[in-house]
Amino acid sequence: MASEFDLIARFFSRPVPSALLGVGDDAALLRISPGMELVVSTDMLVSGRHFFSDADPLRLGHKALAVNLSDLAAMGAQPRWALLSLALPDADETWLAGFAKGFFALAERYGVDLVGGDTTRGSLNISVTILGEVAAGRALRRDRAQPGDDVWVSGLLGCAALGLKHMQGECRLPAAFLANCLNRLHAPEPRVALGRALSGCAHAAIDVSDGLLSDLGHILERSGVGAVLEASCLPLETVTDISADLAMHCALSGGDDYELCFTAPSHHRGPVLAAASHTGTPVTRIGHVRAGTGLELIGLDGQIRTMELRGYDHFAN
Ligand code: ADP
Ligand code: MG
Repeated sequence: MASEFDLIARFFSRPVPSALLGVGDDAALLRISPGMELVVSTDMLVSGRHFFSDADPLRLGHKALAVNLSDLAAMGAQPRWALLSLALPDADETWLAGFAKGFFALAERYGVDLVGGDTTRGSLNISVTILGEVAAGRALRRDRAQPGDDVWVSGLLGCAALGLKHMQGECRLPAAFLANCLNRLHAPEPRVALGRALSGCAHAAIDVSDGLLSDLGHILERSGVGAVLEASCLPLETVTDISADLAMHCALSGGDDYELCFTAPSHHRGPVLAAASHTGTPVTRIGHVRAGTGLELIGLDGQIRTMELRGYDHFAN
């Protein structure tokens, strides 16, 4: 049976050109670039809570890193290093090989080096810490939205939630659309390039992991402002087989999309669209920030509704 150290050496020790010292010592040694601030975030995936215990390890390796990259994207930061802490029920080498493959494939695409972590026996639990850099004073924070800002969102909303509903038997999606939704659910693509490109022209940003209403709600609360959204502007995937209500519900309240929701002054529409086209990321203007608190949605019927700023909550659900 392989020891903990064999496993680390076999699966998680890679050359780390960007670090002074990586895996193998008591701690890693990193040097950040002059004029940059260090941006740090951590996110945990727990078996039975964030994924099914028989989930494909390759996609888990991807997703564990992707959700962390998404947090740095939402800060407008350049990801550089990661730490990986794993609790494993057993030393399943096939599982570890798949997990490492998914993790490193994404890490390589984003120039992220794995510089350390922890490995222990326990029920399956994957925790990644991500470190990156942003030019001093340029991070996209949640507390900087201002009345008059446009509210924007990248990509399409609700696909991951529709995929999950299909898996749970709550709806039936046509095959081609289902594949797309499941891909979004299991292997999200973090919007790192867009986040970085927005760091000069957006005021505030968040990644949509718990649902648009909840996540935009965090920006509004932290910034002390309100917002008005237009349902007709929301970027939804339209498929004939699902009801408009379900698509709208998933777009507003479904989690796991990992798109960016951001606010930018209306005189920055040009730079926002340039950032989007330069990074090949679709963006849609969905409303505006106003003084006050709370969020109204102008429905497809023209009615204005006050929305509850709630998404998925691990302790409430
Ligand atoms: P310590 O006993 O000092 O905590 P460990 O035995 O936990 O050290 O880890 C030995 C080295 O391997 C450290 O550099 C640690 O960062 C690294 N490491 C442990 N687990 C992982 C992992 N899953 N991925 C990457 N590096 C790891
Ligand atoms: Mg340790």
